[in-house]
Amino acid sequence: DEATAEGLRWKYHDPERLKDAEWRLSLLSQLDQAIDDGQVWVAYQPQLDLRTNTIRGAEALARWTHPEKGPISPTEFIAAAEQNDRIEKLTLFVLDTAVAAAARLNQEHSTFDMAVNLSARMLTDKTLPSKVKAILDRHKLDPKRLTLELTETATLASAGDLASLFGLRDLGVRISIDDYGTGLSTLEYLKKIPADEIKIDQTFVKSMRDHRSDLVMVQSTIVLAHSLGRTVVAEGIETREILDMLIAMKCEVGQGFIIGRPSSLNDLIKRLLAERKRRAA
Ligand code: C2E
Ligand code: MG
Ligand code: MG
Ligand code: MG
Repeated sequence: DEATAEGLRWKYHDPERLKDAEWRLSLLSQLDQAIDDGQVWVAYQPQLDLRTNTIRGAEALARWTHPEKGPISPTEFIAAAEQNDRIEKLTLFVLDTAVAAAARLNQEHSTFDMAVNLSARMLTDKTLPSKVKAILDRHKLDPKRLTLELTETATLASAGDLASLFGLRDLGVRISIDDYGTGLSTLEYLKKIPADEIKIDQTFVKSMRDHRSDLVMVQSTIVLAHSLGRTVVAEGIETREILDMLIAMKCEVGQGFIIGRPSSLNDLIKRLLAERKRRAA
C-alpha cells in the first residue's frame, strides 16, 4: 500500500542509511589490510577475582585505529566482519596476540588467565580446534590459561558446531558464554554448551541497583550457574555499590570501568607490578 511504499522509498533513499551501508562495505574491504599494516591492536581489560581482590586475568578486545578516521568501534567493524564471513583473520590475529601476551605474563608475573572473544559463527570451521592448538603450542601457553568467550550463541545450531566446541574443550581451554541473558534460548544453550563460565551481560549488571527485575535476573543466574558447577563473571561494573552487591551474591569474577578500562599491554603490566608492590608492602 501507499504508506508502505512510501516507507520503503524513504528507507532506500535515506542518505544516512546509504552512507552507513557504504561505510560498512569500505570498512570490510580495509580490515584485512589494516591488520597487516598494524592498525589493528589488542587492548586488555582486567578481570578481578572478587574472592581475593586480585587481578586474575584480562579480556582481550580488538581495537582499530584508522589513519584518517581515528579509532573505530569494534561493535562497528566486528558486526560487519561477522555478517560477511570475514571474522576469521581478525579472530586469529587477536588470539595470537593475546596468547603471546598471556604466555609472557604467566612466565614473568604469576598465574594469569586470558579471555578472547570467539564468534559462534567460527565454529562451522571444523579445523578451528587445530588452529587454536597451533597458536597455544607456538607460544607455549598452558591451555587452562585461555578462556574463549563465545558470543552469539543463538546462531550455534548444528551438531557440527557443537563438535568444534567440544574439540576446543578437549584441548583444555575454558569456554565462557558471553553476554548471557541477551539473545535467544539461553536456557537451552546453557544446557547444551560445554561451558565452564557464564558471563552476565552488562545491561543487567548496570541496572540491577535500580531495577528489581534485573537484580532478580543476576541473582538467579548466579544460583543457576553455581548449581551447574559454573563460574560467574559480571561485566560492566561501574560503581562500588554494584561491585559490593556482586561480592555479597558470591559472584566470582568482575569486570568493568571501576576495576579497570581496556588498556595497552604495557599499562596492564604496570598495574600488575603496582599491585604486587602494594601487596608486598
Ligand atoms: P564484550 O565481549 O561483551 O566486551 C565487553 C565490552 O564492554 C567492551 O567493549 C568493553 O570495553 C566494554 N566495557 C567493559 N566494562 C565496561 C563498563 O564498566 N561500562 C561500559 N559501559 N562498558 C564496559 P568493546 O571493546 O567496545 O567491545 C564490544 C564488543 O565487541 C565485545 O563485547 C565483543 O563482543 C566484541 N569484540 C571485541 N573484540 C573482539 C574480538 O577480538 N573478536 C570478536 N569476535 N569480538 C570482539
Ligand atoms: Mg567478551
Ligand atoms: Mg560480554
Ligand atoms: Mg557485550
